[in-house]
Amino acid sequence: MRAYDIIDKKKRGHELSKEEITFIIDGYLKGEIPDYQVSALLMAIYFNGMKDDELSELTFIMRDSGDIIDMSRIKGVVVDKHSTGGVGDKTTLIVAAIAASRGVKICKMSGRGLGHTGGTVDKMESIPGFKTEIDPEEVFQIVNKIGVSIVGQSGNLAPADKKIYALRDVTATVDSIPLIAASIMSKKLAAGSDAIVLDVKMGSGAFMKNIEDAKSLARHMVDIGTAAKKNTVALITNMDVPLGEAVGNRNEIVEVVNTLRGSGPKDLEIICLELAAQMIYLAGIEDLKTARENAAKSLKDMSAYNKFIELVKIQGGDITVFDDLKAFSKAEYEREIKVEKTGVITSMDTESIGLAASLLGAGRTKLEDVLDFTAGVNIYKKTGDSVKLGDTIATIRTSDASRLDEAERVLLEAYSFDGELVEYPMIIETIGSK
Ligand code: URA
Repeated sequence: MRAYDIIDKKKRGHELSKEEITFIIDGYLKGEIPDYQVSALLMAIYFNGMKDDELSELTFIMRDSGDIIDMSRIKGVVVDKHSTGGVGDKTTLIVAAIAASRGVKICKMSGRGLGHTGGTVDKMESIPGFKTEIDPEEVFQIVNKIGVSIVGQSGNLAPADKKIYALRDVTATVDSIPLIAASIMSKKLAAGSDAIVLDVKMGSGAFMKNIEDAKSLARHMVDIGTAAKKNTVALITNMDVPLGEAVGNRNEIVEVVNTLRGSGPKDLEIICLELAAQMIYLAGIEDLKTARENAAKSLKDMSAYNKFIELVKIQGGDITVFDDLKAFSKAEYEREIKVEKTGVITSMDTESIGLAASLLGAGRTKLEDVLDFTAGVNIYKKTGDSVKLGDTIATIRTSDASRLDEAERVLLEAYSFDGELVEYPMIIETIGSK
């Protein structure tokens, strides 16, 4: 077999066999096939796409390139949840607490934030003492004891994806829907859960900017999950506006706590309840209707909140900070942002809101950047709201006063008052099911 012939075949739009894909991925990992040949193949895939079976094979080969976590030591059905990333997306923490309070086992590996999107691990680490690096044996013990653990990525999961992603990043092939689907699902499948609930974000703050792309990504990922014999469902959810009010780290934890205490923003609650209900359903605990009712009940009767507190405690976090949420999230510098127009907000560049939070110190541009946990943005007005000149539309916070002016400028520029008003429901579509 020659890499040249495989590239040529894909260039002409033909389907690659399992053996051909294996030859490329193995050869690339061993250093026998150079970057330039894999780059050419990626570009051919970018233009010609992949057939369903071909894409599943690629994903399985990437999954099998490293460790596959053995969850058999966990008693019960383990369900994973994955978001394609957005602004103000703190759903994992709420959803995990609700689903675990209903008996779902959650052994979640989460990532850190990069660019305009935040990461669950950073948010959890903004709680003093909370550990996200825990020995795998201990993680299994925690899940068996309280039903849930959330830690950072460890082990050698899907190294082929890591190497290919780095190449895609510099060859303009990141935005290929089949390649994104294979990349995400190879890691999800290696993470070893029994079922997977996907939250595919759509809109100006998401990877997928329009519904067609979001649907296509969701469909590809559900098909791959199904081919791997995992119950997989994808919700397409609205990321045309930030989720909830808070974008940052500590301020997002405050919003998580408020939501679990029953006083969170409605948009966030709607998405979290549905994601949790789908997890409960895929775990085989209840039918979907009952799962929805009981997810709502566990928010109301505080069992989800109590589960969250158990999680924070068992992973070393200081729960007394939740006694005074204002003090917990207080930053050295805070500025109210006043709108400079009267009118209706017709759209928001949500990615820029994430960028403003990042500029304040809540996010990183390089992996080694140190975060300012108190930094962030709280948004009070969103698309569809009417505002008057001088109304406060947001608050920005940081420990570094020199960051305020640029963040304010970026934030104000994110709001549009012209053009057609387009609003999406929070849950746009559900794809796939048991
Ligand atoms: N996230 C991933 O893990 N992979 C992609 O290709 C894109 C987003």
